[in-house]
Amino acid sequence: MAEKVSVLIIGSGPAGYSAAIYAARAGLKPVLYQGMQPGGQLTTTNDVENYPGYPKGITGPEMMEDFKAQAERFGTDIRYGMITSVELNSGGVHKAIVDEEHEIETEAVIISTGASAKWLGLEAEQRLNGSGVSACAVCDGFFYRGLDVAVVGAGDTAAEEATYLAKLCKKVHLIVRRDEMRASLIMQNRVKATPNIEIHWNSVTEDILGKTEVEGVRIKNTITNEINDVAVKGFFVAIGHKPNTDIFKNQLILDNAGYIVTEKGSTRTNIEGVFAAGDAQDNIYRQAVTSAGTGCMAALDAERYLAAKESHVMV
Ligand code: NDP
Repeated sequence: MAEKVSVLIIGSGPAGYSAAIYAARAGLKPVLYQGMQPGGQLTTTNDVENYPGYPKGITGPEMMEDFKAQAERFGTDIRYGMITSVELNSGGVHKAIVDEEHEIETEAVIISTGASAKWLGLEAEQRLNGSGVSACAVCDGFFYRGLDVAVVGAGDTAAEEATYLAKLCKKVHLIVRRDEMRASLIMQNRVKATPNIEIHWNSVTEDILGKTEVEGVRIKNTITNEINDVAVKGFFVAIGHKPNTDIFKNQLILDNAGYIVTEKGSTRTNIEGVFAAGDAQDNIYRQAVTSAGTGCMAALDAERYLAAKESHVMV
């Protein structure tokens, strides 16, 4: 038989836990499923220095433990497990399946499933993941102090990762597929002014070299077709993120990149009783503090939705 819960929160990043804190304090007894990566993307970062309230900074994992403890303090039921499918019924009872077996019924769902790093799709990328291949310079850059590394990508993330790594590493090879970068001008200028960053324009990664650990990268210039093997010990992929919204396809309205579309100024989706917060619906700001803010909004939206439903039933 299905378990009935009043508010189901899917995901455990800053958005999910903030929604949980607000929903729990409102007496809604939320149930939160942590998903594949408890704590979300911040658990793969090191120091967080821009989250207000931590003047000395804090590590991502510690911060997420604080979020979790605060959500638990007010009675959130925090559980391990993945929501593997949903059946969303506008204005009615929504169903969710946990780990393909346990069924949950709820009138309000808050989706805070976040986003995941994109990969190039090379075989070596997965084989050498954790052995030189990474999608997080701040997490893994430390291991490559004094060594040569490569970063692929040309957006703000790639620019940020390259300048971060340049402080630790001997040389950073930035592999850019076009003849210009997408990153903001200030970040581009910073990259270009850093003497130990070499930009490889019009270049794509043909392969990552090395059997058991990264030893180099094979780069192809798409104008000249010239192939060049560059010795590096670390290979950082910074080509953007993909929102974790696959299970909501064909039910919720998603934009072209898969981000959940919410009504302007709210967290309401196209399905009544379903709210979205954090990186699953935000392709622009993607910050811990903005995620937490939208998590709070989602809990308030859910609370008001449930209150309006209840008074409607009573009439
Ligand atoms: P973006 O989508 O902005 O950029 C992705 C980059 O990766 C693009 O330059 C793209 O190339 C390149 N790319 C994509 N696929 C491939 C591929 N297969 N091979 C090679 N290159 C590829 O993602 P970001 O993560 O950089 O940024 C996302 C958002 O977050 C942006 O809005 C950004 O401004 C913001 N952000 C802000 C920061 C800050 O303000 N401090 C820091 C980090 C992110 P192409 O340009 O050719 O399409």
